[in-house]
Amino acid sequence: MTDTAIYLDHAASAPVRPEAREAMLPFLEGRFGNPSSIHRYGREARAALEEARARLAAVIGAAPQEIVFTRAGTEADGVAVLGRARQLRGAPVAVSATEHKAVLASAHAAEEEGARVLTLPVDHDGVVSLDAVDAALAERPAVLSVMWANNEVGTLQPVGEIGARCRAAGVVFHSDAVQALGKVPVRVDTIPVGLLAFSAHKVGGPKGIGALYVRRGTALKPLLFGGGQERGLRPGTEDVAGAVGFAAAAHAADAEREPAMARIGALRDRLEAGLRERVPGLIVNAAGAPRLPTVSNLSLPGADPEALLMSLDLEGIAASSGSACSSGAVEPSHVLTAMGIPARIAGPSVRFSLGWGTTDAEIDRVLEVFPAIVQRVRALGG
Ligand code: PLP
Repeated sequence: MTDTAIYLDHAASAPVRPEAREAMLPFLEGRFGNPSSIHRYGREARAALEEARARLAAVIGAAPQEIVFTRAGTEADGVAVLGRARQLRGAPVAVSATEHKAVLASAHAAEEEGARVLTLPVDHDGVVSLDAVDAALAERPAVLSVMWANNEVGTLQPVGEIGARCRAAGVVFHSDAVQALGKVPVRVDTIPVGLLAFSAHKVGGPKGIGALYVRRGTALKPLLFGGGQERGLRPGTEDVAGAVGFAAAAHAADAEREPAMARIGALRDRLEAGLRERVPGLIVNAAGAPRLPTVSNLSLPGADPEALLMSLDLEGIAASSGSACSSGAVEPSHVLTAMGIPARIAGPSVRFSLGWGTTDAEIDRVLEVFPAIVQRVRALGG
């Protein structure tokens, strides 16, 4: 394991917040009861679980009964998309082209069960067209899924407008808010969504727990079967420690959101402005759209993305690439491709994602070393 000094991959996973760790410890050390048990151990676990549910619900303006804890964000997306497709068999499902694979693969699974998939195109900055939303709604899909914030480029979608259109059409609107929670206001009392997916480890909670917000009256089929936990939508003994840690992290992230995001956004803007000056040919992807303040997705034409990431890692800087590399072939990300970015620009992309611990000095260090890395990697590639 490398001794990574500068962590700029918060969109992949964020460090566990001290508030989450502290909240979880009693449930890892002694308070181990099963929330379904009727004895005192069980009652204690149930009380903690319900308090976590209420705490998370309060962050988004929901009622506690509208929160279903799931095993990760992926499962929350799966229950939303495939669960709705199974609820309304025969109806299509509509998803935007830049969704996370958790949504796209769930739509594909629905397709294998007979649903038609309507894919909503995005513009050059990754924003979904409202005309495409209207066209999809005319086909009365079981669910229309457009993410709140994109994980690769940070684009924020017009969820208010999309939600209003879905509500008027009587169609359930699902939004993957995994990357949005704690960074932008995510409120179900002002935005008309039916379903929202969350993941704890993106806000400083533990990995392996997520949540699905299910607006009262939204019918869904489960993907797993067993006990009746989580109103039957996610059977299986609940992860009490995880839920408690998730709620503590979400609460802490939301409480500090405004000042933290103003600070981080300024750092991100300084990073981009500095790199634009120092790196010829650099392109900031989705720069024209409202974006998460934490994400910077850069294309470096002529540079091998893997070599860039490895060189950054040698300097102790952890970043990531939207490109998937398998068997030596680098495939451009489906997000950048859907944005109409050609492969020679979409392929060599690097994502820096900042977090609450990111400092001025860390950005200075990236500005110092990254331009030379790009130059060297470009020269190596001829
Ligand atoms: N949706 C988005 C937008 C994500 O960024 C991620 C994680 O990368 C997920 C869903 C999946 O969440 P999890 O890792 O909890 O399964």
